[in-house]
Amino acid sequence: MGLKIYNTLSRDLENFSPLNEGHVSMYSCGPTVYDYIHIGNARTALITDIIRRHLEFRGYTVKLVQNLTDIDDKIIARAQTLGISSGQLAQTNGQAYFEDTQRLGIQPADVHPKATEHIPEMIDLIKTLIDKGAAYVIDGSVYYRVNSFNEYGKLSRRKPEDLLAGARVEVDERKEDPRDFDMWKAAKPGEPSWESPWGPGRPGWHIECSSMAMKHLGETIDIHAGGEDLLFPHHENEIAQSELATGKPFARYWVHVAFLKIDGKRMGKSEENFIFLREALDRYPAEVIRHFLISAHYRHPLDYSLESLQKSESALNRLNNCLEALQKYNDEAPEGSETDDAISSNSSETNTNLLSAIQNMQKRFTDAMDNDFNSAQAVGSIFTLVSQVNKSIASSNGVLPHTLASAFRKLTEICEVLGIYANNDHNSDKTAENLDPLIELLLEIRQDARNQKDWDTSDKIRDRLKQLNIEIKDTREGSTWKFIS
Ligand code: AMP
Ligand code: ZN
Repeated sequence: MGLKIYNTLSRDLENFSPLNEGHVSMYSCGPTVYDYIHIGNARTALITDIIRRHLEFRGYTVKLVQNLTDIDDKIIARAQTLGISSGQLAQTNGQAYFEDTQRLGIQPADVHPKATEHIPEMIDLIKTLIDKGAAYVIDGSVYYRVNSFNEYGKLSRRKPEDLLAGARVEVDERKEDPRDFDMWKAAKPGEPSWESPWGPGRPGWHIECSSMAMKHLGETIDIHAGGEDLLFPHHENEIAQSELATGKPFARYWVHVAFLKIDGKRMGKSEENFIFLREALDRYPAEVIRHFLISAHYRHPLDYSLESLQKSESALNRLNNCLEALQKYNDEAPEGSETDDAISSNSSETNTNLLSAIQNMQKRFTDAMDNDFNSAQAVGSIFTLVSQVNKSIASSNGVLPHTLASAFRKLTEICEVLGIYANNDHNSDKTAENLDPLIELLLEIRQDARNQKDWDTSDKIRDRLKQLNIEIKDTREGSTWKFIS
């Protein structure tokens, strides 16, 4: 079975085949950086990361672009409240976004374009749309003429009457049609603005993604991802702008991530029911949060609760204990020291069972991920093998060390695709050795601060080290440290 993706455009599970064989171009709508991200935002960012990792695991070269919306109404309003510039606020929160997602083990995209750095491209695209009769100017603002694109509504499948009803909520008498949306907003006093042929102003949100996606990935991209809230109007409008301008399909597969919910409601800033990702990361290791966020298929809503995080924590403990038990076999019998086939010819029943469990896990994992990135089933396949390994180790019937070493390698390889195994202890032995004198020095400085009741410095050292994944434990005998995931 090849890779299949559920395409929101066709509402169907489709065979995946990229435009250029072996290469995938992918765009994912990134955060509006007016605040830290919450774990709902993190779900969408993480699913993007998992999709990319799986495509790479399947041998594709992936170019991932994820934008930062660094100018919009919320950024302007928040910056005004804080008495800082929009640029400063966006800079700080953009930086925080990278810190938080890195802590969650999300690999950075190949390009993270910022809206404010692509104003000329947006102006060009708007000009093209005006030239084609698809946009009009009123008082220094430019509107997209929805009527000019007869496929409008093809992604959201909303009927014209629904679209009209929705659009009327925001009445702007100047528009030709209530469905028309702004691509360029004329400057208001005190707001940041850029020069344009229509006077000073700033871009609308939808034109940002159209321009940045096409600039970095070309006129037709393979996969476009985002949270389900973006399907309409954001993605519908991106299609309308891009396809009318180029005459080509904009994105071939549309992927929408369902909401992370809390008490049955969407987690969101406006709902005031959110948990910042960084708060969650202070309490739980990144792998636990990752495990929780991928424990449901991405098209199903997922409910946040402390119990679910605790469940993920104990599942991860089981996984880590199993890998810890297996690791020594891998150290003693590294890959290539004997072939698996040679082992299977003269092995006990328990050994043969384990060998076939390893193969099953690989197949089930790949099938699950190939089936529209079904991470829930993929995780299930890992834990089935974990149980089998535990049984085999406990069994008095001999399991060959090579088989256990092989289980270690396959499990870690697969966990790597989901990013739920950090392998810190294993990889960090040398790093720990090198870092030891430095951290001891910091601990000494911290102890001096504590002796002088300088708690601010003491806490600062502890917190900053934690951001670097180094945890300090204060005991009666003094402070110790270790890497955390
Ligand atoms: P925003 O910063 O609000 O533009 O959101 C950034 C990304 O997070 C977008 O792709 C949203 O669709 C997504 N998102 C926002 N809230 C949630 C949620 N509760 N669950 C999943 N994704 C979300
Ligand atoms: Zn977008």
